[in-house]
Amino acid sequence: MTGEVVTRFAPSPTGFLHIGGARTALFNWLYARHTGGKMYLRIEDTDRERSSQAAVEAILDGLHWLGLDWDGEPISQYERAVRHRAVALELVEKGLAYHCYASAEELTEMREKARAEGRPPRYDGRWRDRDPSEAPEGVSPVVRIKAPREGETVVRDMVQGDVRFPNKDLDDFIILRSDGNPTYMLAVVVDDHDMGVTHVIRGDDHLTNAARQTIIFQSMGWDVPNMAHIPLIHGPDGAKLSKRHGALGVEAYRAMGYLPEALRNYLSRLGWSHGDDEIMSTEQMIEWFDVTDVNKGAARFDFAKLEATNGLYIRGADDAYLVERIVALLPELENTEAIREKLSAPEMRAKLLAAMPGLKERAKTLTELIDSAGYLFAERPLNFDEKASGILSDEARQVLGRLRPQLEAVGEWSVEALDAAVRAFAETEELKLGKVAQPLRAALTGRATSPGVFDVLAVLGREESLARIRDCES
Ligand code: GLU
Repeated sequence: MTGEVVTRFAPSPTGFLHIGGARTALFNWLYARHTGGKMYLRIEDTDRERSSQAAVEAILDGLHWLGLDWDGEPISQYERAVRHRAVALELVEKGLAYHCYASAEELTEMREKARAEGRPPRYDGRWRDRDPSEAPEGVSPVVRIKAPREGETVVRDMVQGDVRFPNKDLDDFIILRSDGNPTYMLAVVVDDHDMGVTHVIRGDDHLTNAARQTIIFQSMGWDVPNMAHIPLIHGPDGAKLSKRHGALGVEAYRAMGYLPEALRNYLSRLGWSHGDDEIMSTEQMIEWFDVTDVNKGAARFDFAKLEATNGLYIRGADDAYLVERIVALLPELENTEAIREKLSAPEMRAKLLAAMPGLKERAKTLTELIDSAGYLFAERPLNFDEKASGILSDEARQVLGRLRPQLEAVGEWSVEALDAAVRAFAETEELKLGKVAQPLRAALTGRATSPGVFDVLAVLGREESLARIRDCES
């Protein structure tokens, strides 16, 4: 291949950017960046009934969040309808397409006949060679392409290999409706040509369309772009991806607390891989990605793997970055007004930042991080979960009562000094460390599990820690 690679992502704005669309966008983006080419964004809004501006915005938002950018301005397919129409009429003029006046009744009859004969329903070409002077009065015709009837149309696919379609199965499909609007099939071809698209990378549910689109390209004498039809995403059980499996909008993943870079990393491995590398930086993905390496077989979406990937990203992330992400995510989550309010104070943000090294060791998502940071925001007297209440027995409360003066005596309120003080106390009392640390954790956090208890003490600070212990001691 010579010349610049041009890819495009061409979503229909009929809903959110779903996970399959996000992966298609990612592959187009990776390939464009890998080759130093361009990726355009084309909004396929020809279907006015089903398209909405809200969906366009949701798609742009989703792409932004995932860190996928595109070259130039988004292109509206609908706004190009005049050009699409002109191409259809040019084909009519060249004798490569024709007006068809078949009525709805005729078409139904054709379909029923085909069904009765066990053939797939195809238009029979009745207006293909008829003289336009035979046109019935007052009927607005559609325009149909004069598709070849013999031989086959071959889609040379970079992922699927050569896929052959017998031309007898591809009928004279409509390119312009009777109201003068282009069909999707025509609009895609004209746009891909005019945009200089060299590589069409999209879901393999478009493979049959690729054959029909090839016919239009060839009729116009245009180069057919390289095609790469990528396998659809299935659930872990091999069935088509459903909501339960994760067929959700990208914004749902954001709300579940996934990091965009983790989701992007995970998506890149749905149908593509680079050896056994699970975690790849964006630079590595760009360097290694090649569309010819995409697998033919369906990819399987696995929530557990996505979570594990996200956990690795969280552990590796910068603490301040995680605080930022949490602050950005909170408004999307219910019942977080109180936390948001608290986090608007710089001291509380500083506390969250200080707690982050301990918190991030255990969390797989940002929402889990927020949950385990709950002790920071809790108000005295704390609510204790069942396990914590169980730990805080009379005996344990007495231990806390004897421990507190030892902690009060600590000079510098640091992890090391607190650690030393608690250990010394346990030794004097001839108690196992756990017998002291467990009630202490319960008293400080209201839970039986938390980050390291000395970290918790240090992050909460002297005054708040001692107050929480006092609330529980006897
Ligand atoms: N608009 C189509 C879709 O969302 C994609 C068309 C294409 O990529 O050619 O499925």
